[in-house]
Amino acid sequence: MDQSNKISRRKAIGGLAALAAAPSFIIKGTAQSRTSATPGLEDPTTKYPKPPFNAQSQPWPGLAGKMEPRPDHGETSYKGSGRLSGRKALITGGDSGMGRAAAIAYAREGADVAINYLPAEEADAREVVELIKAAGRKAVAIPGDIREEQFCRDLVAKAVQQLNGLDIVVCNAGRQQARASILEVSTEDFDATMKTNIYAPFWIIKAALPHLKPGSAIIGTTSEQAYDPSPDLYDYAQTKAATANYVKSLAKQLGPKGIRVNGVAPGPIWTPLQVSGGATQEKLKNFGGDTPMGRPGQPVELASIYVQLAASDASFATGQIYGSSGGKGQP
Ligand code: NAD
Ligand code: MG
Repeated sequence: MDQSNKISRRKAIGGLAALAAAPSFIIKGTAQSRTSATPGLEDPTTKYPKPPFNAQSQPWPGLAGKMEPRPDHGETSYKGSGRLSGRKALITGGDSGMGRAAAIAYAREGADVAINYLPAEEADAREVVELIKAAGRKAVAIPGDIREEQFCRDLVAKAVQQLNGLDIVVCNAGRQQARASILEVSTEDFDATMKTNIYAPFWIIKAALPHLKPGSAIIGTTSEQAYDPSPDLYDYAQTKAATANYVKSLAKQLGPKGIRVNGVAPGPIWTPLQVSGGATQEKLKNFGGDTPMGRPGQPVELASIYVQLAASDASFATGQIYGSSGGKGQP
C-alpha cells in the first residue's frame, strides 16, 4: 500500500470520529481517489480503503457501526432515478452490508422497504430506517431470527400487511463462521448455517409466493464461495452453491408466472459478517488484498446490481448470477 493511501485513510478515519454523534455515516470514498480531469471518472483501485486493516473482532452478528473503517453502504453517495417507483421490497439482513446498501438504494429508487435483522442489530437497523424515511419512503423494521420457520412466515405476513403488498424479495441474510477443520464444525454450527442460509430462503419464498404478482423479483445473495470454496468455509461455501442452484431452479419454475429469480455473487466485501467470525484475524488484516483491485469491495459497490435485478427493465434476466468480486473468483 502506498504512503498517500495510508495517510488519506487515517484522515478519513479521524474525520469519522467527528461524525459519530450525528447521523454517523461514512463519507463516500474513504480513500482519496487519484484526481482526474474527467468528471465522474473514478479510479476503482484507490476509491476505497485498502489493506492492511487493523485487527478487530466483534461477537456474531457484529455491527457496521463498530467497524473500523466503517463500511460504505451508499449513505452519502447513492442517487436514485425512479427505477423502482412504487415497488415494495422485503430485504433480510437489511441492517448492514449488502442488505443495507440494497435498502438505501431501493428507497432512493422509489420503493417502500421492509428490513429484517437480528434484535442484537437494532442500532444498525435504526440508521437504515432513518435513511429510508429520509428518502421519502415507508420503512418497516421487523427484527427476528429467520432460523425459525414460524418467524419466517410471520415476517412475510407483516411485510405484506405493512407495505400493503410485496413485489421484491431479497434473501440476503447469511451466517459465516470460519473453522480451520471440519472437525471443528459442530452439529449446532452446521445446523445454524444451514437454517440461516438455506432453510430461511425456502420458508420466506414459500410464504411470499402467493403475494407475488407477475413482474415481481426474487434475489438471493450467493458468493464467489459457490464456485471457489475456501478450505475454512466448509459449511458456508456449500450453502452458497445451493443458493446459486435454487436461483436457477426457481427461475425455471417461476418464469412462466412472470416472476424473475436472480442471484448476486459478491467477492470479499467489507461487512460485519467478516469481522464477527467470518474471517480469521490473519485473513482480515489483508482482506481483499489478493484481488486485482488490491482491496475489498464496499457494500455500496453492489447496490446498483440489486437495483438492476429488481427493476422492470431487466425483464429478460432470470436465473442469472451477477458477480462483483474485484476481478478474482467466479462467475
Ligand atoms: P452482514 O453481516 O452485514 O449481513 C448479514 C446479515 O444476516 C446480518 O446483518 C443479519 O441481520 C443477518 N442474519 C444472520 N443470521 C440471521 C438470523 N438467524 N436471523 C435473521 N437475520 C440474520 O454481512 P454481508 O457480508 O453483507 O452479508 C450479506 C450476504 O452477503 C450474506 O448472505 C453473505 O453470505 C453474503 N456474502 C458476503 C460476502 C462478504 O465478503 N462480505 C461475500 C459473499 C457473499
Ligand atoms: Mg448486520
